[in-house]
Amino acid sequence: MIKSKAYAAHSASSLLVPFEIQRRDPGPEDVQIEILYSGVCHSDLHTARNEWKNTIYPSVPGHEIVGRVVAVGNKVRGFKVGDLAGVGCMVDSCGHCHSCNEGVEQYCESGFTGTYNGPVFGGENTFGGYSQSIVVKASFVLHIKHDQQDLASVAPLLCAGITTYSPLRHWRAGPGKKVGIVGLGGLGHMGVKIAHAMGAHVVLFTTSPGKIADGKRLGADEVCISTDTKQMASYANQLDFILNTVAAPHNLDAFLQLLKLDGAMTLVGAPAEPHPSPNVFNLIFKRRQLAGSLIGGISETQEMLDFCAQHKIVSDIELIDMAYINTAYERMLKSDVKYRFVIDMAKW
Ligand code: NAP
Ligand code: ZN
Repeated sequence: MIKSKAYAAHSASSLLVPFEIQRRDPGPEDVQIEILYSGVCHSDLHTARNEWKNTIYPSVPGHEIVGRVVAVGNKVRGFKVGDLAGVGCMVDSCGHCHSCNEGVEQYCESGFTGTYNGPVFGGENTFGGYSQSIVVKASFVLHIKHDQQDLASVAPLLCAGITTYSPLRHWRAGPGKKVGIVGLGGLGHMGVKIAHAMGAHVVLFTTSPGKIADGKRLGADEVCISTDTKQMASYANQLDFILNTVAAPHNLDAFLQLLKLDGAMTLVGAPAEPHPSPNVFNLIFKRRQLAGSLIGGISETQEMLDFCAQHKIVSDIELIDMAYINTAYERMLKSDVKYRFVIDMAKW
């Protein structure tokens, strides 16, 4: 067993505190990674505080991991000691259902094993990236091709990047398409960058007037303050696709009305409490679709990392020490982060 320092929540109401965990010794198909950077996703906070009512304690969050390979099992091909490696939201899946065969392991019919809080196939709880070391099946480990100096800013691609890339690609964001991104947080700012790089005309919808200039710098062609009904009305029936990343319940109708005939709005934000039900007439009258999307498969995550490396896309981050995590959570709740906290594991 490998001992690793970590930070864990022990209950929904307690702060995260130092905690020692044990990782398995790498098996023949495993890669052992020394974690260099770990992004802080809003899902980490939802989980640490049991907002989705499924947390197993102690809980060690973190599913935006970048590190260096320190050991490989004897059946591992494609990774060697010294390589850079990434780990996202999943560390295993059944491997033989329809979804796994299609390469969309996130929709595994038995449920994928989460990087944290994920013992779907039985066994111990899984512990995530707020730790110094992790051992993962090689088929769930990603290759990092970005420049070395960007590594901390690459970490958020492993969740925020793929969670926006996958639906943007599925709903064919690209030239000639008007794409709305709702919420400029960790996911939203990656959505703006990626949709822009795909060639779409990007409209950012934000509740924060202070983010207008940033929205444009990040790649939005237009910015709409979503609390301003007049501004919102000017986008009625205009958008082909809307990616909604908001982490709190809100009025979905306000955005559905902005879709064209056959337009779709996909929810990736996962608030603890439900949204007020949308008005069905907003769907019926323009054959609009309301959809959801969960992260992305492993091969699509590699495709996204390669796309971002090619387009020189990384996350805008604020690098923090591990001990800052509780303050980071409070700031994230106030949307006070530009635009992702990333923990520097060298600064314990
Ligand atoms: P985040 O950094 O906190 O960003 C959320 C953004 O939503 C905020 O920056 C803010 O943007 C907007 N917002 C927050 N509260 C709001 C409110 N009450 N009304 C309107 N807008 C509000 O969070 P994140 O890490 O991007 O995660 C966003 C959500 O996606 C979370 O629920 C997370 O669990 C979920 N998630 C889902 C998946 C998936 O696979 N589907 C994957 C990862 C995360 P403005 O200031 O611009 O309005
Ligand atoms: Zn996440």
